[in-house]
Amino acid sequence: MSENKFEDLIYKKKTVFERESEEEISKMKEYGARYMKWLDKSKTEREASRNIIAALREAGFEEYDPKKTLRTGDRFFINNRGKNVMAAVVGSGDIEEIGIRISASHIDSPRLDLKPLPVFESDGVGYFKTHYYGGVRKYQWPTIPLSLHGVVVKKDGSTVDIVVGEDEGDPVFCISDLLPHLAGEQGTKPLNKAFTGEGLNIMICSSPALDEGKPVENDAVKINILSILKEKYGITEEDFLSADLCAVPATKAADVGFDRWLIGAYGHDDRVCAYPMLTALLDNAASPNHTLIAIFADKEEVGSDGPTGMKGKLFSDLVDKISRDLGADPAVVRAHSACLSADVAAAYDPNYPEAFEKRNSAILHCGVGFCKYTGHGGKVSTNDAGAEFSAKMRSLLDRAGVVWQMAELGKVDQGGGGTVAMFISTLNIDTIDIGVPVIAMHSPFEIISKGDLYEAHKAFSAFNAE
Ligand code: MN
Ligand code: MN
Repeated sequence: MSENKFEDLIYKKKTVFERESEEEISKMKEYGARYMKWLDKSKTEREASRNIIAALREAGFEEYDPKKTLRTGDRFFINNRGKNVMAAVVGSGDIEEIGIRISASHIDSPRLDLKPLPVFESDGVGYFKTHYYGGVRKYQWPTIPLSLHGVVVKKDGSTVDIVVGEDEGDPVFCISDLLPHLAGEQGTKPLNKAFTGEGLNIMICSSPALDEGKPVENDAVKINILSILKEKYGITEEDFLSADLCAVPATKAADVGFDRWLIGAYGHDDRVCAYPMLTALLDNAASPNHTLIAIFADKEEVGSDGPTGMKGKLFSDLVDKISRDLGADPAVVRAHSACLSADVAAAYDPNYPEAFEKRNSAILHCGVGFCKYTGHGGKVSTNDAGAEFSAKMRSLLDRAGVVWQMAELGKVDQGGGGTVAMFISTLNIDTIDIGVPVIAMHSPFEIISKGDLYEAHKAFSAFNAE
């Protein structure tokens, strides 16, 4: 008997290197390189929105006009407040019968937002006060170069775009840490206590304003900062009250390892899903059978609230509009629709095996991760995809030759997390989580596999093409 007699009985994860053709493998690094370039200029949801819209426009997508009746073949996008994009292609199939194919990722990432009145000085050094956004491990943010991104909107409505720290020759900013020689006491504190939210102050200036060659008497550093900002951007301290400004790592995406199969970067979560979702939409925008919607959401990292998050009403309004224009009942359309909730999975980290249950964890290079459920503490707060829908998606990916793996987020009761899946599935839409596995998720330098990234593109593409 051959030794393969029982092979079919056992589920075995295999890497892209074992499962993909030479031709496909050769495409992975090229695709990864394109993603890295895109990621470097998409460090905030606003920048990602801009770049997504530019790509959509180039592919013939038009800005959504609610007054226009939609028809088969229409391609359009909604620019939701510059922070959330929804793109759609109206397919040729019967929308009531086959529903809509939805993919949903998010384009916000953990970072340090500036407070409404951020500028202060202390003993000759000027700082920005921050309020961290999303699941940040505070100890990871001191002593790395930071760049400043965002917009200031003045009272007259004019907008000032700010990006400092990304271009060659730009200054960068930084949060300091103690020297080891004096960190004895700090070192005895638990990780989550040693660094505080109020301590994440960013150094931005260290010289005083001068008046006739002499330092001014009071608030000299602060006045110097505000003078520089006034000169460069025409803004005053009060203008910070209507601003979305944040600090992110100033580093660029880089190949990791001698073999260059990994990408280290800030903000993979979740642009590493948004990018393949975008390329898969563009690849299938010509004349799809299904109507396609691609959602690039904001605010996932802080609970999906607000008008640009997935709890917002815009998405269901869009489904209503498309359905009605095609003469269909939106409730029936939703009932027959399917959604891939595209968000990163936690990759098993061999350096921290204790946090994972390896059998059910995503393994690097074993393809895009399929997450039946996320949540925490006994599957609380999750969309647990049903067996029937899971089977349908499993079979779709297999037919398309996608390398994929089932993935769970760490050990039971080790922690947990959520995605936008539950907000879409409550609209009576079958939804499953799928995404690229990440090591060191939410850190300033997250790591992913170029192979897994490429398989994500293939997965979204197969889903759209059906
Ligand atoms: Mn995410
Ligand atoms: Mn996240």
